[in-house]
Amino acid sequence: MNDDASALLRLEDLVTAYGRGDDARAVDGVSLTLQRGEVLAVIGESGSGKSTLAMTALRLLEPRSGRVLFDGEDITHLGQRSLRRIRRRMQVVFQDPYESLDRRFRVHQIVEEPLLVHRLGADAEERRAMVHAALERTGLSPASLFADRYPHQLSGGQRQRVAIAASLVLSPEVLIADEPVSMLDVSARAGVLALLDTLRRDSDMAIVIITHDLAVAAHHADRIAVMYLGRVVEQGPAHEVVNRPVHPYTRALLSVVPPKDPLAPFAPQLLRGEIPPLSAIPPGCRFASRCPDVTPACLKTDPALLEVGPSRSAACILAAPALETSSPQGAHQ
Ligand code: ADP
Ligand code: MG
Repeated sequence: MNDDASALLRLEDLVTAYGRGDDARAVDGVSLTLQRGEVLAVIGESGSGKSTLAMTALRLLEPRSGRVLFDGEDITHLGQRSLRRIRRRMQVVFQDPYESLDRRFRVHQIVEEPLLVHRLGADAEERRAMVHAALERTGLSPASLFADRYPHQLSGGQRQRVAIAASLVLSPEVLIADEPVSMLDVSARAGVLALLDTLRRDSDMAIVIITHDLAVAAHHADRIAVMYLGRVVEQGPAHEVVNRPVHPYTRALLSVVPPKDPLAPFAPQLLRGEIPPLSAIPPGCRFASRCPDVTPACLKTDPALLEVGPSRSAACILAAPALETSSPQGAHQ
């Protein structure tokens, strides 16, 4: 069971909408859990609601309904003051390190700032030691070489390491990395992803990697949740989701990942059509308009996320036969 009460972060049936009305539901009933020390990848095409989900978990957005529990505490409607306490423990790193870093400040100031905000470190000397330790942990070593630089004097990968250091300096229990490498060039990507692996190995920090790249999820996560149009459509242990995908959307995402062996057969199954706009989500399965396996029933039934195996769930009526071997029940995790 993944959905036990010990979860560090627990999202329950979250609905987050933009604008006044309720029709633009960017996140539409998502339940997920994150255990201590776990790496969860949330994948899906652009527009599937990954960032909105992250912002809601961080309480940078307030959900229309559902609950966010952090370490057992309901933080769904917590005020700003109390949220600060949670924010120290749950940090985020954004996609674009050039946007997220204040370019007027030097690296050591950028990494010290969170300590000042959270009133950590007894004095300037202690804070300096904490800043240097955080920089070293991210591979910016020796820290003294980088501490006085400005963001524009760093490479993209180094800037993202500074952003990660500014989170790590608070010793968070959860790090949410929203497309942390998608703005970086290929060589910097591998380095930053390896850094996340190292951080996870050396501490019991849980990491959520948000990515549109299934290969990244496959190599760096324990568990994968696949999102489509505001819903989780499949989730399970990473190796199982990758080796035995159940949902046609996951299969399509997988089919475009080139095999490591260049001579292996490669038949990318390109998704046809576009993601429908939030304002015009069709009845029935929201993936039906693009699904290669669509049946008439798919246009009528909005499939629930159901258990399809141990710790695995999928929202597809075609996955239903798998249900006959395990007892059908809602997989809320
Ligand atoms: P992802 O991170 O998976 O690309 P997002 O969470 O950014 O997805 O977006 C999900 C949906 O919410 C998209 O349809 C997007 O257009 C919409 N959206 C995101 N941010 C806003 C916003 N600030 N105002 C209105 N709609 C938004
Ligand atoms: Mg996003």
